[in-house]
Amino acid sequence: MKKTFLTLAVPFIALCLSSCGPGHRENMARIDSLRVSAEQLIRAQSQMGWENWVFGKMSNQDSLYKSNVDLFTLQNIELVKQAELDEPDSTQRKRLHYFKRYLSMEFIGKQIAALTDSVSNVESTIMVKVAGKDVPYRQIPSLLAKEKSQEKRAEIYVAVDPVLDSLNTMLIRVENTYQQLSRDLGYPSYNAMLEELKGIDLDEFKRVCEMVLADTKDLYMQLLDEQLSRYPGINRGNFHRYDTSPLFRSERFTAFFRGDSMMPAVLRTYAGMGIDIGSMNNLQIDSEPRETKNPRAVCFPIEVPSDVRLSIKPTGGSDDFSALFHEVGHGLHFASTTEHAIEFKYMGEPTVTVRISLGIHILQSGLAAAVHLDANEGPQGFRSFSCLLPTLLHPQVQREVPL
Ligand SMILES: [Zn+2]
Repeated sequence: MKKTFLTLAVPFIALCLSSCGPGHRENMARIDSLRVSAEQLIRAQSQMGWENWVFGKMSNQDSLYKSNVDLFTLQNIELVKQAELDEPDSTQRKRLHYFKRYLSMEFIGKQIAALTDSVSNVESTIMVKVAGKDVPYRQIPSLLAKEKSQEKRAEIYVAVDPVLDSLNTMLIRVENTYQQLSRDLGYPSYNAMLEELKGIDLDEFKRVCEMVLADTKDLYMQLLDEQLSRYPGINRGNFHRYDTSPLFRSERFTAFFRGDSMMPAVLRTYAGMGIDIGSMNNLQIDSEPRETKNPRAVCFPIEVPSDVRLSIKPTGGSDDFSALFHEVGHGLHFASTTEHAIEFKYMGEPTVTVRISLGIHILQSGLAAAVHLDANEGPQGFRSFSCLLPTLLHPQVQREVPL
């Protein structure tokens, strides 16, 4: 009996000594002060990211890292790693795990900041020569989506090549730095680092993706042929990557997705679920189609939950609605939380917010014609069109489409 008590008590006492002693309290106080600095930095980074993304202002994330040189160090990563191992409470242990993941990723982030600043600044300032005219690089997707002639789309697509060549040179350096720094952190590769820190198995993920691709290929081909038959002269054999933009935009449905009905449609949909978006002052939506604005829709949780911002760059049509519904899904997640721990506000499991936004996105695609468009004049074929769109995002589908 006595032996059994000791067997149980010794590990408990050891755990208590490591997690309750003065050393532990000092370490936790140090970690708390790192959390405060991290939250201030995240806000400043998000604000600067927003200014570049939405207004094309110059990015200088490198300067923010330089004013926080003591935050992302190997010593701090080790401190949090040890605290995670010693922590008996599962919620606190999860917080520490997320914080260690954040510090490790940002250990790399601070060393590639100057490079990623260069990429953002090139994207927001460089011009592309299209038919003798200078067009901002970030305006190209919108131009492609609205161009009716396949020949001219091909010209625009090729005109971007020199810009992509210079961006790729920078991105290769970013990639090589990622690989080198993950090895400096003691991992065999960047993928191995992600697998451990994010708790994912990339081989298993690949297997599941390939299974989904194989199971949906016939359906995709059927839907693609159906949609392409509406574009004279275009078929599976001569359908190129640059033809996907007008297909996404699908002009025949544009009249049913007018810009001025976009916000009312979002407000009505959420009102139907008991959520009054119009009264949420902490959720800001920027839908101005500025030329230097990044065309990708995005959510910036600048300060969670009091200042959450969404950016979309409308080109007209159902894709604008999908982008807005999707981003509102992200925005609501951040803007509605009552969580205080920074790990759960900014660094938690990212797939949770993606699942919410994709759910809302699919809801919009499936119900838009029936709910927010007049059922009598609702466009024929919108359902099969909206089913095709998500499949175009798929890597195998991208491979099927010639460059
Ligand atoms: Zn998303």
